[in-house]
Amino acid sequence: MRSYKILALYGDGIAYEIVPEALKLLEAIEQTYGINFEIIGPYEFGAKYYANHEMKQGWDPNITKELFFEVDCWFKGPVGLPEYLGKLPGPYLPINQRLDQDLYANIRPCRLRQGVDSVLKNREPGDIDYIVLRENTEHMYVRAGGKLSRGGETELAVDNYIQTRKGCERIIRKGYELALSGEYKANRGAPSDGKPRLTIAAKWGICKGDALFKSIAEELEPSYPEVDTEYAWIDAWSYWAIMRPHHYDIVVMPNQYGDIMSDMSGAIQGSMGLAGSINAGDNYCFAEPTHGTAPDIAGKNISNPTSIILSVGMMLNWLGEKENDKRLKEAWKGIDKAVDDVLKARKVRTPDLGGSNKTSEFSDEVIKAILAK
Ligand code: ATP
Repeated sequence: MRSYKILALYGDGIAYEIVPEALKLLEAIEQTYGINFEIIGPYEFGAKYYANHEMKQGWDPNITKELFFEVDCWFKGPVGLPEYLGKLPGPYLPINQRLDQDLYANIRPCRLRQGVDSVLKNREPGDIDYIVLRENTEHMYVRAGGKLSRGGETELAVDNYIQTRKGCERIIRKGYELALSGEYKANRGAPSDGKPRLTIAAKWGICKGDALFKSIAEELEPSYPEVDTEYAWIDAWSYWAIMRPHHYDIVVMPNQYGDIMSDMSGAIQGSMGLAGSINAGDNYCFAEPTHGTAPDIAGKNISNPTSIILSVGMMLNWLGEKENDKRLKEAWKGIDKAVDDVLKARKVRTPDLGGSNKTSEFSDEVIKAILAK
């Protein structure tokens, strides 16, 4: 039977607590769904690794450029530590993969699940079930910029905000596909009226790139008559997401806005620790939690592992679609349901959700639910 090669990477901070839980999850998936995984790693990379290696090497030498293309998919923990910000020269290899593997769609569901108290007044589970769809290869993060230094002092820094026709078109099409399929959501359509809806969120009155983003959406809109298309200024959307989250289904936006709005959506769903995420292209995909390294709680084994658990589940779904393997798609559904069941039971929960359980105790409970299937 074919086995799937999955590369696992740590990162920094709470990565050392949550990545092992994701590996335990994959073992349970093998048992329950009869799938074989060949795990490569887990390997270390990131700020701590860099500092510990005299700032010469940011990743385990087993991590090569080719490896990312040889595996079926991969996942990593969060990376970066505040004490090294601005001190470390050069990027860490795995961080470049969004561009190197052309992973243009960052899919970040925001769902209020049963058993989680809403931070928004009067919102119940079922009211919030939207996806932040972040373009992942353009906009402010293309790293096309530079700085002007004179006499050792940096006087000017420039970042270029780039949007292309190809980049806008493919992410907006992905938004329509997600609206039509209902994938990664509890239910297809917006909670308020059940309609598949695509909200185009940008700042087109000011930024030329966003005007291109909007005009391409207007070109594509007639091809998707089943989807209710609407246009929102990104600043206004951050307001409306809080005031009427039930109205939203898929919200597509340029890169940096998506970065910011997905953290806000982490709060809207009850904790950063609940927010799953994949970086997906047409041929490659990797999973990572939406949250960062959480240095304030790192090393205490109290972080919530749900984000990495859901992210790895979404990655399996992506692989199932690519390989036409129903078992992988079923595995994602099983993971999603197991998380739902454990949260709903309110017995085992980490401190971010008001509980006192350890990271591993929560994931063990999820794994138990998967194995009991
Ligand atoms: P980074 O600089 O790497 O982005 P950060 O702490 O600034 O890290 P996040 O990690 O995104 O940013 O977290 C913001 C807050 O959410 C932190 O106070 C952190 O404790 C909390 N948090 C993040 N992830 C989790 C998690 N998995 N479980 C519990 N709390 C979390």
